[in-house]
Amino acid sequence: MKVQIKKLIDLQNCDSRIADVKDKKEQGPIKIQELEEGLIAFENKLKDELGRLEAYKQEGRKIDREIEDIDSQIEKSNNKLSNIKSNKEYSAALKELDELKRIKSLSEDKGLNIMEELEVMNAGCVESKANMEKLKNDVEKNRDKIMEEIKVLEKEFKRLEKERVSLGKSIEENLLKKYDFIRERKGGIVVSPVIKGVCQTCHLDIPPQQFNEVIRGDKLMNCPNCIRIIYWGEDESFKDDAAAGENVKE
Ligand SMILES: [Zn+2]
Repeated sequence: MKVQIKKLIDLQNCDSRIADVKDKKEQGPIKIQELEEGLIAFENKLKDELGRLEAYKQEGRKIDREIEDIDSQIEKSNNKLSNIKSNKEYSAALKELDELKRIKSLSEDKGLNIMEELEVMNAGCVESKANMEKLKNDVEKNRDKIMEEIKVLEKEFKRLEKERVSLGKSIEENLLKKYDFIRERKGGIVVSPVIKGVCQTCHLDIPPQQFNEVIRGDKLMNCPNCIRIIYWGEDESFKDDAAAGENVKE
């Protein structure tokens, strides 16, 4: 029985490696999708930024037109002023001119603010565009790397599947069926060591009588609590297998 148990442990290690490779293989496309989503998010942010810059440029042009408009009004006002005869009209026109000049000065201040702001925004956009290019390159590089990894994992997966088939062939049919049955229900660990009377997977005690039988190791035993196939973990002949299977996930 010990030889068969050792083979089951090998099978379990192989299954766990298969599960691990499968998991990593499935993570690849998810990672690529995350990278692409990050790129799209950045692209949208840049688009917004450029949109805001364009809108602000238009705002600047609007102010320029406003100032031109006021200039022509001021010119008209000046012409009017030189043709006025009465004092009353003159002071009214002068007041109008002052008001126009006041509005012009406000618009010029606004225009200046916009220009300063535009400079900052422009610099920001230039930086964002450079970052975008960098991100694009990074995403491409990472995508290629992940695709390469997937290819390697696929090869490994095929190799392990073959290994599993040949391991399965070396195990008694009934035992293999039992193993597969438990694996389907429990996943991960099917063959569990028992140390000092405690199943190392479910951590519950094995009754002393049964533990003695486990130590003898001449028949197939199941943990009465978790139904996993059990073997005596302190048995020297299992030491290597236990070390190899340490990464088996429950
Ligand atoms: Zn157990």
